[in-house]
Amino acid sequence: MEMHSRTAKNLAEVLQKIATAAVSAGRTEADVQLIAVTKTFDATDILPVLEAGHRVVGENRVQEAKAKWPPLREQFPDIELHLIGPLQSNKVREAVQLFNVIHTVDRPKIAEALAAEMTRAGCQLRLYVQVNTGGEAQKAGIAPSEAVAFVDRCRSEFGLNIEGLMCIPPFDEAPDAHFAMLARLAEEAGVQKLSMGMSGDYETAICFGATCVRVGSAIFGIRA
Ligand SMILES: *Cc1c(COP(=O)(O)O)cnc(C)c1O
Repeated sequence: MEMHSRTAKNLAEVLQKIATAAVSAGRTEADVQLIAVTKTFDATDILPVLEAGHRVVGENRVQEAKAKWPPLREQFPDIELHLIGPLQSNKVREAVQLFNVIHTVDRPKIAEALAAEMTRAGCQLRLYVQVNTGGEAQKAGIAPSEAVAFVDRCRSEFGLNIEGLMCIPPFDEAPDAHFAMLARLAEEAGVQKLSMGMSGDYETAICFGATCVRVGSAIFGIRA
């Protein structure tokens, strides 16, 4: 099959599976948002998804997003762009200009820098706190034991609009316990949204309450 029609077909299949998983979990399709993860793919690869009417997309690097999305936004002004990868302090200004939602707030320094930049720019982005549910040294995210206090601090000290929690479970473990932990921490912290689930496990994540799933390769194919 030609590459582009395959992408559109994959998108339709993923949306169908999301709807089915939501209904099986006693929820509705509208409760779960699909973030189509476009990292490493270029405009030609992404167009079929935009042309199919999908507008919610995710990137993991500020520099890559900055090169790719401004031209696409001229064509599709209602694109909602999510940052799902680590954010460095020196990229905060560009990130606030480019993204609508940031999923990776994970330390006071970044929370403070985001607060200052959003005040300066006169905008409020939607934000998630990333939790390192597996306690992996190489992975970003706040420790689970510190997550609730950190959300409180983001709100009270920095005035941030934290709408939910995000996690990336360890690659080599069943994700269930990690999704359950994130849901429990969100309840304790008093946030409503859960960003969890990728190509291999988004249906499981929906079962555990995911409100957005971040799906790349199941739509666009294997990344180079
Ligand atoms: C790349 C990426 C995804 C999507 O991964 P797939 O397995 O291709 O669906 C989701 N979340 C984050 C944080 C990513 O970096």
